[in-house]
Parts: sequence; C-alpha cells; structure tokens
Amino acid sequence: MTEKVVIIGSGPAGLTAAVYAARANLSPLCIEGLVSGGIPGGQLMITTEVENYPGFPEGIKGPELMKLFRDQAERFKTRFVTEDVERVDLSKHPFEMWANEKRYEAHSVIVATGAKAQWLGLESEQLLQNRGVSACATCDGFFFRDQDVCVVGGGDSALEEALYLAGLCKSVTVIHRRDELRASKIMQQRALEHPKISFLWDTEVVEVLDVAKGTVTGLRLRNRKTGAEQEHPTQGLFVAIGHVPNTAVFRDCLDHDDKGYLITKPGTPETNVDGVFAAGDVQDRMWRQAVTAAGSGCAAAIAAERWLSAKGLT
Ligand code: FAD
Ligand code: NAP
Repeated sequence: MTEKVVIIGSGPAGLTAAVYAARANLSPLCIEGLVSGGIPGGQLMITTEVENYPGFPEGIKGPELMKLFRDQAERFKTRFVTEDVERVDLSKHPFEMWANEKRYEAHSVIVATGAKAQWLGLESEQLLQNRGVSACATCDGFFFRDQDVCVVGGGDSALEEALYLAGLCKSVTVIHRRDELRASKIMQQRALEHPKISFLWDTEVVEVLDVAKGTVTGLRLRNRKTGAEQEHPTQGLFVAIGHVPNTAVFRDCLDHDDKGYLITKPGTPETNVDGVFAAGDVQDRMWRQAVTAAGSGCAAAIAAERWLSAKGLT
C-alpha cells in the first residue's frame, strides 16, 4: 500500500503535522521513533514543567503535553508505528523507508525527527537533569530567578543563554574550556560587557554537586592549564555546547548544512526533494522551541496536502 503521507517523528512538529494531515483526510502514518530515551514523543518527554506553551497558563508537564498532542492526532485517525526509520530511498517516487526490517511506501514524507542537545557526559550531570541541570535557558531560566547560575560553552548558544539568564538571575558565570570564545564578535562584546556575566577560562566541569542532595549546589571545576581543582557554588547549570539534529538517515539524500540540519527553501517546509518536507528542530538551528516546531509541523502538513492535491494524489 502506498501511503499518502508518512510523518517521521512524534515530537511537537510530527504530531502537529499528523493532526493537520489527518484532518485533511490524508490518513497519515506516523513512524513515531524511539530515540528519546526509548520512548516516542520527542524531547519534551524528558522534561518536567513546560511553562511557555501557549494555552496552559498554569504550565504542563512535558510528557502530559505530548500525550495530549498524540491523543489529538489519534482522534482524527492518525496511525502510529513505534519504530525508528533506519533507511530511506527518496531517489524515486513513491518514496520508500524501512523501520525494523519493514518497508513503507509513501507519496509524500514529512521529516520531523528533531534534534538532541549535547551533554558533557558526566554521570552527575545526568542524575541532576531537571533538578538544576538544563540545556535550555528559555525553557528553564525562569526557575532560577535571582539565583546564581553557570553556563558551559563558548559558542553563540552559550552566550545567548548567558545573556538571557542575565536578565533573570543574580549572576551568570560562563565556563569555557579554552581562553578564547568561539562565538561571534557581537555576542562576545555583549556578554563580556554585561555587568552580571563573568567568565571562567580554561575550565572544565568535572562533577555537578550534589547528587546526594538531589539538587545542584555547586560544581567541581578543573583548570585545564594548571590541573587545579576548585568548588564553585551555583544553583543552576546550563549546558550549551551545541545540538545535533537527528538526520543521519537522510544525509545522503536531503540537503543539509555543516551541522546536519536539513535545509528547507526559505519560508517553506520544502526540502530539495519534491514531495519531501521538513519540520521542527530538524531544520531549525535557531529557535528550537515546542511552539515553533508545532507551527512548522502545521506548515509542512498543509504544504504536503497542497502538493499531493496538485499531483492528483489526494
Ligand atoms: P523532537 O521533540 O526532538 O521530536 C523528534 C521525534 O523524532 C521524536 O519522536 C523521535 O523519537 C523521532 N525520531 C528521531 N529519529 C527518528 C527516526 N530515525 N525514525 C523515527 N523517528 C525518529 N521547548 C519549549 O518550547 N518549552 C520548554 O519548556 C522546553 N523544554 C525543554 C526541555 C528539555 C530538557 C529539552 C531537551 C528541550 C526542551 N524544549 C522546550 C525544546 C523542545 O522540546 C523542542 O524544541 C521540540 O521538542 C522540538 O520538536 P520536534 O518535533 O522538532 O522534535
Ligand atoms: P558551537 O558553535 O559548536 O559551540 C559549541 C561550544 O561548546 C564551543 O565553544 C565548544 O568549545 C564548546 N564545547 C563543545 N563540546 C564541549 C565539551 N564536551 N565540553 C565543554 N565545552 C564544549 O555551537 P553553538 O554555540 O550551539 O552554535 C551552533 C551554531 O549556531 C553556530 O553556527 C552559531 O553561530 C549558531 N548560533 C547563532 C546564534 C545567534 O546568532 N544568535 C545563537 C545560537 C547559535 P570549543 O570552542 O573549545 O570548541
């Protein structure tokens, strides 16, 4: 059977695309993925409070929000397959994809496979995630109002996070592993001149304290030049060392930038392959929010419907 549209991914982008595609009578199949800790639903499945998704004035837990997204997609008869797509052939039409040895065929495809924040890889960092350790200042900064926080990284993301946090927090310490920032000059200037932001150079985080207390109380730091270690009190750690888009299976067939983010035609969800659309964090290295992902999922579904309709495939 040739599906009208297959949606790959079940975060805010994929499930919003599913709602719109289903309501347009496209009977979408959503291959919802497994990569977020072995469960579908995307990055919000690994967070607690989401306070900036419109429509929930009291906030909502990430997994609860994603259940509502999924329920809405199911209500309009989206079908789900809980597998990761391992291989695709987008070189001929209909398109083909394989998940757990099974082959799927589709007239159009919406890629909504998201991105992953990179972490330092410390056990303590993992154990204290959502307990003072975060990878998203826009999402979690509010919880650290008037507190002392640290940001790790030396790129534009780290300085953007630091500047955002400086508007909310008592102090922000940027911890960078070298003595030179990678960020653009304008961001450097803004951060270096900000009265609430200070820098620790040539420094790496060795341990996030205090796992026994179940909350962040400080960091154990090491100077990479001298090897000297120190404890630095802080209430929050924001890791901003980059993101990786989940695009490994598409790298041979879809245009992408140097970091692997899919490239869409400006102002559209269209990829370089006619009939293949991209939505959400997988094509967005700038905003990476649930609401922007959902918005682009909507656009991708409408674009897919128009494309199928123009080809007489609806
Ligand atoms: P994702 O949510 O990443 O979903 C991608 C989906 O694709 C997943 O279902 C995954 O399993 C699937 N997938 C990946 N590879 C494959 C494959 N090969 N085959 C099939 N499926 C695949 N944003 C906010 O707006 N507010 C917040 O408070 C907030 N808090 C956050 C907290 C944390 C800890 C994190 C990590 C992010 C947070 N974000 C928040 C950002 C937000 O989660 C993302 O911007 C949003 O989830 C992106 O949606 P998406 O659908 O593009 O991708
Ligand atoms: P990035 O430019 O790759 O910078 C990552 C930073 O994290 C680097 O400073 C790197 O250190 C550090 N780092 C990486 N791994 C680390 C580790 N294991 N431990 C400690 N530090 C580590 O990533 P990004 O900042 O996310 O930016 C990605 C792209 O988006 C860039 O092109 C950037 O310009 C763009 N962006 C732009 C804006 C903006 O214009 N407002 C905002 C955000 C992002 P080293 O320097 O030593 O390698």
